Amino acid sequence: MKQDITAAKVPTVMKNWVVKPGDEVSKGDPLCYVMLGTIKRTVSSKFYGKVIETKFAEGDKIPGGEIICVIDGTEEKSNELKPVEPGTVVQVTADNLMGPSGLVKEWYKQPGEKVEPKEPILAVAVGKLTAEVSCPYGGTVKEIMPDIDAKVNKGDVVASVVADGSMAGPELPKPKVVVIGGGPGGYVAAIRAGQLGAEVTVIEKERMGGTCLNRGCIPTKALLHSAEVYQTAVNAAKAGVKIPSVELDWDGVQKNRRSVSSTLIVGVEGLVEANGGSIIKGTATFTGPKSLTVKTAYGIKTYEPDKIIIATGSSPAMPPIPGLAGNDACIDSTGALQMKKLPKSMIIVGGGVIGIELACAYAAFGCKVTIVEMMDRLMPVMDLELTLKAQKIMEEHGIEFFLETQVLSFEKTANGSKVLTKLKSGEEKVFEAEKVLVAVGRKSNIAGLDLEKAGIETERGHIVVNDKMETNVKDVYAIGDCVGKIMLAHTASTMGEIAAENAMGMDEHYDESVCPSCVYMLPEFAYVGINEEQAKAQGLKYKVGRFPMQANGKSLIMEEKDGWIKIIADKETNKILGVHILGARATDVIAESAMAMKMGATVDDMINTIHAHPTVAEAMKEAAMAVEKRAIHFK
Ligand code: FAD
Ligand code: NAD
Repeated sequence: MKQDITAAKVPTVMKNWVVKPGDEVSKGDPLCYVMLGTIKRTVSSKFYGKVIETKFAEGDKIPGGEIICVIDGTEEKSNELKPVEPGTVVQVTADNLMGPSGLVKEWYKQPGEKVEPKEPILAVAVGKLTAEVSCPYGGTVKEIMPDIDAKVNKGDVVASVVADGSMAGPELPKPKVVVIGGGPGGYVAAIRAGQLGAEVTVIEKERMGGTCLNRGCIPTKALLHSAEVYQTAVNAAKAGVKIPSVELDWDGVQKNRRSVSSTLIVGVEGLVEANGGSIIKGTATFTGPKSLTVKTAYGIKTYEPDKIIIATGSSPAMPPIPGLAGNDACIDSTGALQMKKLPKSMIIVGGGVIGIELACAYAAFGCKVTIVEMMDRLMPVMDLELTLKAQKIMEEHGIEFFLETQVLSFEKTANGSKVLTKLKSGEEKVFEAEKVLVAVGRKSNIAGLDLEKAGIETERGHIVVNDKMETNVKDVYAIGDCVGKIMLAHTASTMGEIAAENAMGMDEHYDESVCPSCVYMLPEFAYVGINEEQAKAQGLKYKVGRFPMQANGKSLIMEEKDGWIKIIADKETNKILGVHILGARATDVIAESAMAMKMGATVDDMINTIHAHPTVAEAMKEAAMAVEKRAIHFK
């Protein structure tokens, strides 16, 4: 059956063809590369079959939606194995590698040995898994090719067999996995399931990449990067660099944010496709325990896959405070990332992670920022001692804080909005700003999925899962922000790997007891493990080491002397219980502590590890030494 292939819905330019008319292709095989602006995209085959025609030569402009290739083939692989005459030499290819490549681990058969149809002849190590390569025909091994430890790519010819006329029965079809949601949970699950041999379809109603790439992690950090570059330029004279006039180009800031997100989104789409996955733009709803309908621009599609992974993420929670709904000066985090012009003033309701990161960015751009928080402290998950230091640093940068303050109502004004509040003292106070960012938490995206039709259990607005990411319905998994665990991109991705592995027959368990969390404020804040308040509440016998960044050479060089590292360790065993870093590069330096804690390390292990100089990381060793009251560079 003739099948048409298009490059993209938007105009592209042909880079080069990988195939030519007459070539046999499998689903997922690269056909050609096209340029989408400066980004190189792979156009992959969605069919098994033979290439009939290729259109457009190198450098040709391809209009959006134009057919570039015609394949005579089908969506499903034909399982039909053709018989071969005894004595025919058959090539053995490494097809089922569960990944793009692996290392030769062991040859089970040597030249001259007999082999049954489908009997494994080679073991290939693919990460922590072992894939076995076999020949569908029985016979005698003629030649084995790659040496032990050599790299083997998927599809490489690894051996040849002289056929004896016997052959395997029909191949079992690949398990079909549908992933709902293409965020860091869903796309990672899709890639992992593809690596393990599933036929994967990702259903995404918007752009791939989810909150993380479109309106979360990446755009906030792109904005913060611009803010940091701006401040560095403004303060460059301190480092001996005179910049006569520094000007903020807000359109440029927004363009950079969009460009970083787009580059990563295109990369993610390519990776899903390179692992054999298909991406369908549409909204999925359940019609039964294992059946879905997907509403697309072209109509309704139905799916009855073998396994379903729900990865629908979360959205900003908007509190039911009078005057908020319909007030266009009041925005959520998505609105705060996409502002057409830099506001002169901003009130942020909620001193959590989103509020703090965006407060730091906007204050650095020159906006007057005020934070209104109902609790008596900011960022409740962080260590209190360092949070108070962080608040002081932000106050020095002009951010104002009103803690224990209750928002009573909002009122739209000519230039923005008023926020009526009740202060800790009981007094009422009215704030006014051009924009009001409401960042008071997020809610799981489960409405509209019709989970009840599938009988999937929910609790307080989240999908209930066990540590294998299984819901109460067999073969249906849920991951990421929609399951009510820690709402982070890296936890969503970890859950995605676990769900995919379990869906493909493995037995993996999710454990978030050692999970680093980072706040990309200026300076950065990161932690792993427990904080001092938790150590006290749990009645633990603990000791603490602290080291100031002003005693760290690298931090001084970078003019980033604000901050501390604090390590909490068990008083008797010396095991590290928690690490808290406030300072430049905290979000990278924390990785060492996460690894140390995962391996059950003690402060002595940290002290006995040589840390390079001059680095921010060497402050970690000093903090560990401070636990033992023996820091070298601080008394
Ligand atoms: P999401 O990323 O939300 O993706 C879910 C996807 O599912 C969406 O694309 C959605 O369109 C799609 N979808 C939903 N329903 C359907 C349906 N019925 N059919 C089809 N598709 C559907 N985390 C960090 O670790 N580090 C950070 O620095 C960080 N910064 C953040 C900054 C901000 C401003 C915000 C808002 C969040 C931030 N996060 C950060 C959190 C992080 O973005 C989320 O934890 C993460 O994106 C969750 O991933 P997910 O795959 O579970 O869901
Ligand atoms: P959050 O839970 O971190 O903070 C919300 C804050 O709002 C809390 O301090 C809460 O006390 C306060 N609040 C609630 N209602 C209020 C009200 N009516 N008036 C005043 N204050 C009120 O939530 P968030 O900042 O919206 O972030 C949501 C989630 O997104 C985070 O929990 C995190 O999982 C994720 N996130 C992560 C990062 C990161 O990893 N760097 C960055 C941004 C977001």
